[in-house]
Amino acid sequence: MGSRILVVEDETDLAELVAFNLRGAGHDVTVAHDGSTALAEIQRCQPDLLVLDVMLPDISGLEICRRLRRNAQTVRLPVIMLTARNDEMDRVVGFEVGADDYVPKPFSPRELVLRVEAILRRTIPSAEVEGPQAIALGDLVIDVPAHRVEVQGKEILLTALEFRLLLDLASRAGRVQSRDALLERVWGYAPDVETRTVDTHVKRLREKLGEGALHIETVRGVGYRALKS
Ligand code: CA
Repeated sequence: MGSRILVVEDETDLAELVAFNLRGAGHDVTVAHDGSTALAEIQRCQPDLLVLDVMLPDISGLEICRRLRRNAQTVRLPVIMLTARNDEMDRVVGFEVGADDYVPKPFSPRELVLRVEAILRRTIPSAEVEGPQAIALGDLVIDVPAHRVEVQGKEILLTALEFRLLLDLASRAGRVQSRDALLERVWGYAPDVETRTVDTHVKRLREKLGEGALHIETVRGVGYRALKS
């Protein structure tokens, strides 16, 4: 079954090319050519995933992503950013504002479709998740089916990716997880994603968790480990 995808890109030819390929893969695609239209469309059509160009005529893709992450309704909306080629800055800031993935321009439409499907695959409805219903690391509590995280009773808003990263570590508490293993399980594929990506996301996750971050330990030269207490 197809998903609802909103493509936000002001270059109309590129937007149409992307939309054409995603429709070919069975998805229901809407296109927006600027940031304010995109924000209105997100409210209206509630997409399952956003393909978001960084460079837009009004509001930048980074700012849109930042706004989505501040809102409880859209904090988990998967976002794939389209970035300028080799623009390390866009990539780093993209992850900092909460993008799930990025695709540097120029890209093959086929590659983008594969990235979209990798993200949609790992956004499994919570009812289908097997395993424990709740995991506690001291005062950090993960309600698995509800995708809800609390630290000292206060809810922490995490993106879908941050939630999966925390859940992956927490469900293997006490055991060190290498960056490669995390990339494979949490990101779902590895080809050109650098292991540094894991560090960027753990850093951001820790910032959000506040005191709860004490339950995620860095194991120098290896990776990360969740601590039960
Ligand atoms: Ca653009």
